[in-house]
Amino acid sequence: MLKSMRTVFQSGRTRTFEWRQAQLQAIIKLLDENSEKLTQALYQDLHKHKMESYVMEVNVCRNDTVLYLNKLWDWMKPQKVHKELINKFDDAYIRYEPYGVTLIIGAWNYPMQLIFLPLAGAIAAGNCVVLKPSELAPNTAAAIEELIPKYLDSDCVKVVNGGVPETQSLLAERFDLIFYTGNTSVARIVMAAAAKFVTPVVLELGGKSPVYIDDGVDLNAATRRLVWGKYCNSGQTCVAPDYVMCTPETQEKLLMKLKEVLDEFYTTDPQTSDSYGRIVNARHFGRIKKLMEGATVALGGQMDEKDLYIAPTVLRDVKLTDPAMQDEIFGPVMPIVPVRDHQEAISIINEREKPLAMYVFSTNRDVIRNLKECTSSGAYVVNDTVVHGGVPTLPFGGVGNSGMGAYHGKFTFDAFSHKRACLEKSLGLESVNGLRYPPYTEKKLDW
Ligand code: NAD
Repeated sequence: MLKSMRTVFQSGRTRTFEWRQAQLQAIIKLLDENSEKLTQALYQDLHKHKMESYVMEVNVCRNDTVLYLNKLWDWMKPQKVHKELINKFDDAYIRYEPYGVTLIIGAWNYPMQLIFLPLAGAIAAGNCVVLKPSELAPNTAAAIEELIPKYLDSDCVKVVNGGVPETQSLLAERFDLIFYTGNTSVARIVMAAAAKFVTPVVLELGGKSPVYIDDGVDLNAATRRLVWGKYCNSGQTCVAPDYVMCTPETQEKLLMKLKEVLDEFYTTDPQTSDSYGRIVNARHFGRIKKLMEGATVALGGQMDEKDLYIAPTVLRDVKLTDPAMQDEIFGPVMPIVPVRDHQEAISIINEREKPLAMYVFSTNRDVIRNLKECTSSGAYVVNDTVVHGGVPTLPFGGVGNSGMGAYHGKFTFDAFSHKRACLEKSLGLESVNGLRYPPYTEKKLDW
């Protein structure tokens, strides 16, 4: 399969503006004609409400693809660079070139977005692509496998479905770039496989994204923004707020507000709410259940294993040594860790791996600045959660254990493009080169 893709790539087919434009138009057609099918698959896999699927999967992919179509001509153009006197008569520019045959490995929590978003960028950049959707969202994976060959150039875009053995077989092959979304442990496997061929990787990973809620903030707005970001897709969002830090006084006020907002969003019985999702499978259900062991449940806590349902849950007075504070939660459980002040929050953040996102609710400029300047994370968001992923002019990606490289908007085109340094000179004016040639002399050094 890869040999034939490489032959097509080398023929130059995917490099042309016309091919890229036609494929991007085909992605838009695919999304427009099959949005119902895709949202149904997402409902079957994750109980995602149609509206959540449109906003966070279908539309996100469509909007970025439209952006690529509109900007493609400009982005493909060689970019002239500043020249010093010595290169005055030369052409110096950057050419954005496709890497070649690329591999995109998706995760199950946004199983459509995590395939189509990088795919559109890879095509805009002129690459061939092998797609490996997550086996844990089988309905979406099947829809992708059925639809891609119907709309896109099958010589250049292929779908491989299957589980870990299939992913490992792909990783044993030589690709020109690997774009992986998933957890940090598997990222090590991906990096090790890539190392064999020195293949570049983009790693979109996760981690514990902290929230700091300052004393005195407007908890009406803050709690709604927090609850939406935490409990959409049942907390199975890479940038979901993972845990909250606030003073013990704010914890009391926040718990009251959380109860109000959770009832408003998901009713007093979220299991019957259409707007509330399910855990992806029994293994993840068991994993999340374990995180609650020994904890004080302040809100929620109800579970129904047959339905893979875990209520929106809040744990109070959580200690750093508790199970919920060891790994990324990736589920609808939110620990609140009481802290003295924002300085203690900074220390807690810095003792851990660098998170994918950090959220601060405050109106105090010093608090906002200190938290920003004394920590590191993929993204830093003030007075909201998760929404930075919808700003296409911001790079989306992690740092340290939360990832490597970034995408969304132009950053996706960049991630799939090699920036080739081009310098074109004439053979004239040879006399000015005399200085750099041997024999080297003191006189030449003085110049
Ligand atoms: P997953 O189980 O769907 O795995 C992702 C891919 O890795 C799958 O295609 C799977 O086949 C492959 N895989 C799994 N185990 C493997 C192995 N041993 N060897 C080779 N391949 C293997 O997804 P997941 O890892 O459970 O995803 C959840 C994680 O992804 C969370 O940590 C979350 O924060 C992160 N995530 C990050 C982003 C982002 O954009 N940064 C987005 C979504 C999810």
